[in-house]
Amino acid sequence: MRIVVVAHAEGRMSQSAFGLITAARQIGRSGPVAALVLGRGVAGVAQQIAPYVDQVLVADCEELAQYDPQVWAAAVAQIARERQAHTILVTASRSGREWSARLAVRLDAALLEDVVSVADQQGSLMAERYTCLARVTERIEALSPVVVVSIKPGVFAAAEPMGAAPAEPRTVELVLPPTRVRVTGKLRDATDRIALADAEVVVSGGRGVGDAAGFERLVVGLADPLGAAVGASRAVVDAGWRPYSEQVGQTGKTVQPKVYIAVGISGAVQHLSGMNKSRLIVAINKDADAPIFRVCDFGIVGNVESVVPALIEQIAAARLHPAGA
Ligand SMILES: Cc1cc2nc3c(=O)[nH]c(=O)nc-3n(C[C@H](O)[C@H](O)[C@H](O)COP(=O)(O)OP(=O)(O)OC[C@H]3O[C@@H](n4cnc5c(N)ncnc54)[C@H](O)[C@@H]3O)c2cc1C
Repeated sequence: MRIVVVAHAEGRMSQSAFGLITAARQIGRSGPVAALVLGRGVAGVAQQIAPYVDQVLVADCEELAQYDPQVWAAAVAQIARERQAHTILVTASRSGREWSARLAVRLDAALLEDVVSVADQQGSLMAERYTCLARVTERIEALSPVVVVSIKPGVFAAAEPMGAAPAEPRTVELVLPPTRVRVTGKLRDATDRIALADAEVVVSGGRGVGDAAGFERLVVGLADPLGAAVGASRAVVDAGWRPYSEQVGQTGKTVQPKVYIAVGISGAVQHLSGMNKSRLIVAINKDADAPIFRVCDFGIVGNVESVVPALIEQIAAARLHPAGA
């Protein structure tokens, strides 16, 4: 059995879980693909994932109401042992990396961490991951029968539903250790902007927007009417114009939105590796030879200072006078 551990928050499963299912299917290996949902009041999440997998396992109890790495590792270890799972896939989020290492210790398993590709080659699980500040792509092989794999978010395309009747969720009973850390409060980011990983449209800005004010006016200004997430190149993040959480690329986030709009981004290979699987890429750059034009579907050669305001104007006009109205 391959177990995919489903990350979720506030009753909604994270998009990353769909990528884990794609990875689990690609690996092949024997047995069904089972989704594991841990938490309190998670029946809705179990229903959301059911059309995509062979089995849904649900551990729903008070001890799992709050994320705790020790408890998570104990819960998944118990289930993996009972079901004789040979491969456990986890999102390499901050928390995923935290508890997957503990899980690997508990299962005496190899840990393939933060990988960007994974495949079974004649019974051996092989994977690739970035190392040395993402300058080197390392190939690694698991040498144990049970393997824990944490997958870099956004790297694998979202899985499609299986087509058969959705799997019936099965409840699992657990014996869990007491928690050693209590969460005493949570301060939420005030932004209500959609997260990069979940967005269907991403507008990203590069050094070509000039400065932080230019970024706000041109990139955020274009993202807002489109309901899009905001991304940035590393040059922009290094300059302090935008936070690291918005960086797209090899050392930032990997995204696969339906539409990716690159504003004043040259298209360095390290940026492309974070967005080149987007379904439709639009690039705006004044240099007709910029590498971004080699990967885009639609390219506009021009100054962002004139092209972007014209686009924003067109979007506003289309809203006021929708086609066919
Ligand atoms: C180990 C390593 C990891 C890295 N990881 C990442 C990463 O995760 N993400 C990332 O993005 N980069 C990463 N980089 C950096 C990457 O190599 C590039 O330096 C960076 O992506 C360049 O950002 P940029 O396109 O914004 O800037 P530039 O390369 O300076 O490009 C700016 C572009 O804007 C255009 N332009 C300028 N003015 C205008 C205007 N008025 N109108 C229209 N176009 C204009 C220019 O023609 C140019 O093409 C990494 C580098 C290394 C070595």
